[in-house]
Amino acid sequence: TRAVTEIAGEFGSGKTQLCHQLAVMVQLPEERGGLEAKAIYIDTENTFRPERIMQIARARGLDPDQALRNIFYAAAHSSDHQMILAEQAKQLIRQHNAALLVVDSVIAHFRSEFPGRENLAERQQKLSKHVADLLRLADAYDIAVVITNQVMAHPDIFYGSPLKPAGGNVLAHGATYRIWIRKGKENVRIAKIFDSPYHPEGEASFRITAEGLADL
Ligand code: ATP
Ligand code: MG
Repeated sequence: TRAVTEIAGEFGSGKTQLCHQLAVMVQLPEERGGLEAKAIYIDTENTFRPERIMQIARARGLDPDQALRNIFYAAAHSSDHQMILAEQAKQLIRQHNAALLVVDSVIAHFRSEFPGRENLAERQQKLSKHVADLLRLADAYDIAVVITNQVMAHPDIFYGSPLKPAGGNVLAHGATYRIWIRKGKENVRIAKIFDSPYHPEGEASFRITAEGLADL
């Protein structure tokens, strides 16, 4: 069984860039770190860029047009639509060799459709169902699910960073792995695994370059 990995981080931290990179990497042969498989990409913020996929693919020696065709793309217009797309992904996974499902971002529609405290319970209930659906998908079809999460400021926290991942307990308990990306100097980003029941906290730095993400 594979996992649901949450990528959280502030605006411009590189969550969407990482999703693009993963959608290409999964296509590489296993000896080059891939799964020789296709990707499904659910975009809720209209930030998917085909040209960026082609650029990253070219840098990895893949045929850019083929790399793009190996990504099943869908834009989700609402949280309901997003949940339907996740359901429909099953069909694609069964029929094609898809090993990665990206949802970027998992929470944006939920946050805008259920604003304020008065809607929080309903939002969390619905989001919880969505995340559970994704976990079941990862489990049943042995695929990697990667979801991105926004951050929110907790002004009541005076020590350390006031930024926390959105989604509260639903994501904290729903995601198998949680990764937090923060900005370093210029194009450097630091990814930290946190809250994991299986891993000690660890960090890895990378750069966002024209060719895609590069290890430091
Ligand atoms: P948001 O919360 O707004 O969705 P995000 O975490 O998804 O933000 P990204 O859109 O992944 O952030 O990252 C944007 C950053 O990636 C930009 O700051 C830019 O510096 C970098 N970037 C994007 N494209 C390129 C490129 N072709 N070459 C180098 N850097 C790039
Ligand atoms: Mg983004």
